[in-house]
Amino acid sequence: MFAAGIDIGGTFTKVAIISQKGRIAAKSLFETKDFGRFDLWVEKSLSVIKLLLDAKNIKKNEFAGIGIGAPGHIDSVNGVIHALVNIKGWNNVNLHDEFKMRMKAPVFVDNDANMMALGEYAYGAARGTKNAVCITLGTGVGSGLILEEKLYRGSFMAGGELGHMPINVNGPSCACGGKACVETYVGNKYIVGRVKRVLSRHPDSVLAKKFKGRFDEITPKDITAAANRKDRLAEMIWEETGKYLGVCLAGVVNLLDPEIIVIGGGVAKAGRLIFNPVRKTVRERVMQVYRHRVKIVPALLGNEGGIMGCAWQVFEKGRA
Ligand SMILES: [Zn+2]
Repeated sequence: MFAAGIDIGGTFTKVAIISQKGRIAAKSLFETKDFGRFDLWVEKSLSVIKLLLDAKNIKKNEFAGIGIGAPGHIDSVNGVIHALVNIKGWNNVNLHDEFKMRMKAPVFVDNDANMMALGEYAYGAARGTKNAVCITLGTGVGSGLILEEKLYRGSFMAGGELGHMPINVNGPSCACGGKACVETYVGNKYIVGRVKRVLSRHPDSVLAKKFKGRFDEITPKDITAAANRKDRLAEMIWEETGKYLGVCLAGVVNLLDPEIIVIGGGVAKAGRLIFNPVRKTVRERVMQVYRHRVKIVPALLGNEGGIMGCAWQVFEKGRA
C-alpha cells in the first residue's frame, strides 16, 4: 500500500508518495504562496498527487489515503485548520472535507510537529520506543509527544508545545503571548539576536570580522562554522543555547520520563556543539533516579520526518 504525505510549509509545500515500509516512492514540491488562495492550493496538491501516482503506476486499490501536516493550530478530529503560522487567510478551513470530496480517499490532518514526531517514531530515531519526545529546532521550536505508543494531543488539541515552556520567571515576550518561553532562547532569531548583542564587545571574533557592518546577515549556520574554527564566542553561544534547551528538557524528563528525546531541524545541524551542552545540562539537572537513562539523539529523517509521519498516520488510522 501507498499513502500521500503533504507537508505545508510557509515557503514550500512538499508532497510525497510513501510505501507502508516508509520508502519514499516519489516526491515533489511547489511554492505555497503561488497558490495562496486556499482552493487553488488544494487543486494544485491534488494534481501533484495524481501525477506522482501515475508516474509510479500506483492503482487506486493500492492507495490508502492522504496525510497532511500543517504549521499551526489544527483540529485533527475534524481536519480543520484554525490558523496557520506564516500563511495568511487560511483560517477555519476544512482541509479534510476539501480533499475527501475530491479524492474519495481517507484524509488526516494534523500539526506538522506532531507529524515529525510520528515520523521519527514510526520510521526514524524513536522507532521501537514507547515514550518519546521529538523536537524540531528552527525559526520556532516545534515538538510532538509520543506517550504509551500514541501521539499525545492534549484536551484541546494544543498539547505537546515544548517550545512554549517558560524557563524563567521574566524574559523575552514570545509570539504565543507568553514570556521566557524556551523558543525565545533557542529559536533561530533569538540565537542570532544574542550573538548580535555581544559582537561589538568581541571585535576579534570570527563572526565580528566576517560580518563587519552587516550583523543582520548572520545565521545559525554561520555561528556553527565559526565554532568549528574554534571561535570562542561562537562556541559559547552554542553552549548557552544547549544549556537553555537542556534546562527545559530536564523538566520534561522529570515530568514524562521518556526513553528518548529526538532533536532535529536546522538548528540541530550544529551537531555536538549543541548536543553536548544539552546532554550535560540534562544529566546535571534531572532527578537523580533518571540520570543516564534517557537518550538524547539527532533526528534520523531530516526534512522528511513530517511527510513520513503523515503517511504513517494514514496506514495506522486506515487500519483501525
Ligand atoms: Zn511562547
